[in-house]
Amino acid sequence: MVTVMDINIDIDFGKLPTPCYIVDERLLIKNLEILDSVQKRTGCKILLAQKGFSMHAVYPLIGKYLKGVTSSSLFEARLGYEKMGKEVHVYAPAYIEEEFDELLKYTDHIVFNSFAQWDRFKARVRSYPGKRIECGIRINPEYSEQEHAIYDPCSRYSRLGVTLKNFRPEQLEGIDGLHFHTMCEQNSDTLERTAGAVEEKFGEFIKNMKWLNFGGGHHITRQDYDIETLVRTISRFQEKYGVQVYLEPGEAVALNTGYLVAEVLDIVENEMNIAILDTSAACHMPDVLEMPYRPNIIAAGKPGENRYTYRLGGPTCLAGDIIGDYSFKEPLNPGDRLVFCDMAHYTMVKNNTFNGVNLPAIALYSQKDGPEIVRKFQYSDFETRLS
Ligand SMILES: *Cc1c(COP(=O)(O)O)cnc(C)c1O
Repeated sequence: MVTVMDINIDIDFGKLPTPCYIVDERLLIKNLEILDSVQKRTGCKILLAQKGFSMHAVYPLIGKYLKGVTSSSLFEARLGYEKMGKEVHVYAPAYIEEEFDELLKYTDHIVFNSFAQWDRFKARVRSYPGKRIECGIRINPEYSEQEHAIYDPCSRYSRLGVTLKNFRPEQLEGIDGLHFHTMCEQNSDTLERTAGAVEEKFGEFIKNMKWLNFGGGHHITRQDYDIETLVRTISRFQEKYGVQVYLEPGEAVALNTGYLVAEVLDIVENEMNIAILDTSAACHMPDVLEMPYRPNIIAAGKPGENRYTYRLGGPTCLAGDIIGDYSFKEPLNPGDRLVFCDMAHYTMVKNNTFNGVNLPAIALYSQKDGPEIVRKFQYSDFETRLS
């Protein structure tokens, strides 16, 4: 048993194929219980943002706690509809004409990114047979506390959401709700300030709405997250404006629930020791390059912290396919296994087969059955994406 960030890990990683993601259902349930406690205390509704985590083998479990999914495309909407079967919400910067009718088939709530989009599609939404689809507008409060420009929907010239200057109160007939999404991995003090900015700019319009969607980026399941401020902010809005509040976290659902198990293939030397792994930053954890961030590895430290320091690189031919520098108590050897932590969210959903590198297998650990391989990938998965 090893302990990482206060979690005792009793999974035998040695029996899995590599590379392999393994999600621990017990940890996922812990997160879902925290999210559900917010729903129970406030009456808000929480959705899974599939962009961050789409491991549909666990959708039935997630559906026991959350109210449904949010989607940004036809395929995500369909996945949520077919695999969870609860509320399906969709928002996209722009909708595709040819896909729109099929999209409505799966959708309960649709959020538009501009009044032009709303105007173009509203007749088709209203005349959709058999159900009333709720409609919303995404607003841009031009307030965020984001430091990474690539994750800041309120940066200058952002295409995401309608600014107050472009807001069209005369076109709100038929609009049931407003939506904002401006956060990323943030605590509830940021939400409280953001909600204040939303209120200042759009408060008069919120009054006439049925719901208000606070988007994602709430790090609710992180250990230092302040749930009281979240609860207070949700309750204040629901009481003051008579709206139903929605949250749609992706990362918080799967935060710290999974691992990526990899194997050392070779050790080379070029002014330092370099280990080549069977997992790739570019293919299997692109956020390491994009975000960028440094994943924790069980029983490894920062460079120099332990006696043996290695640069860890992937098996692709990309020079920059580097995960980072780590130190170990013992020298690494081909065949050794390394376990990367917090690898459930924004990994599987971003995977690619660049350089013909295979996708990691996907496994689930459950209390009842232990580790089970849910899916293994093969040549045909690579071949059928190309032609
Ligand atoms: C990405 C995104 C989310 C989820 O964000 P997390 O940071 O994973 O919680 C929710 N809503 C919208 C509109 C998004 O773009």
